[in-house]
Amino acid sequence: MKNFKKFLSKNFEIYYIKTGTFKLDGGAMFGTVPKVIWNRIYPCDNNNRITLSQNSLIVVSEDFKLLIEPGCGNKWNERRKKIFEFEGGIANLKNFGFSPDEITHVSFTHLHFDHAGGATELINGDLKPFFKNAEYLIRKEELEDAINSNERTKASYLKEDFMPLIKVQKVKEIEKDCEILPGIKIIKTGGHTRGHVVFLIEDKILFFGDLVPTAKHIHLPYIMAYDNLPLETLEKRKEIYRMCMEKEIQIFFPHDTELKTGYIIQKEGKYTLKEIE
Ligand SMILES: [Zn+2]
Repeated sequence: MKNFKKFLSKNFEIYYIKTGTFKLDGGAMFGTVPKVIWNRIYPCDNNNRITLSQNSLIVVSEDFKLLIEPGCGNKWNERRKKIFEFEGGIANLKNFGFSPDEITHVSFTHLHFDHAGGATELINGDLKPFFKNAEYLIRKEELEDAINSNERTKASYLKEDFMPLIKVQKVKEIEKDCEILPGIKIIKTGGHTRGHVVFLIEDKILFFGDLVPTAKHIHLPYIMAYDNLPLETLEKRKEIYRMCMEKEIQIFFPHDTELKTGYIIQKEGKYTLKEIE
């Protein structure tokens, strides 16, 4: 199966790459949906886990190389390796023709470990930014919540993923919806986390983050149990789906194992994907 797709927009080359996979509980990934329903469209292993992708989007212009979502990274202890069965990861970036050192900016939809883990690496016991020459653009509320995690969120926000970036002063906090780079907008959605954002590129390309983790989650009730504010997810999905249909925006997913992409359409009253290659 292909683990790489390339698209051209007005001013950018866009690379949609699958650097690896990992596993999460299938029930948690489908929230209130019973297993007899979700398991028909998403098979699980003997431990009820489903395989998810670690997808990144790289936006290349004449002036910058932005990487959105470095994925899970490689700083895992044996216990976590057993739980999540990580395969590959951002260290595979070179297989797609990119060196981490040429990335000028890194950004995230949110700071959970499966999105921000690849931002840092462990070298001889020291935590260092994986992208040495990059500035890390992070939504302010997300950084606050990640730093001040609580009993429910601390299993997802791991300090080693973002504190080393703050320590070397590589973080730029983004305070509101804006262009983080020319042509690259962030829109706060909340829902999954309070500071969760999606990326809108030249008003034509949208990276969903965990607002919609895979193409199989487009159907409105398929909202993860991991979401802190599931009803906010529902409302934002409706708003963003409508925008995507109106403006014919191409959509991308952080965890879709087949690197699906295309356009949101409505079929028999349900939202679904009109896939393109
Ligand atoms: Zn995720």
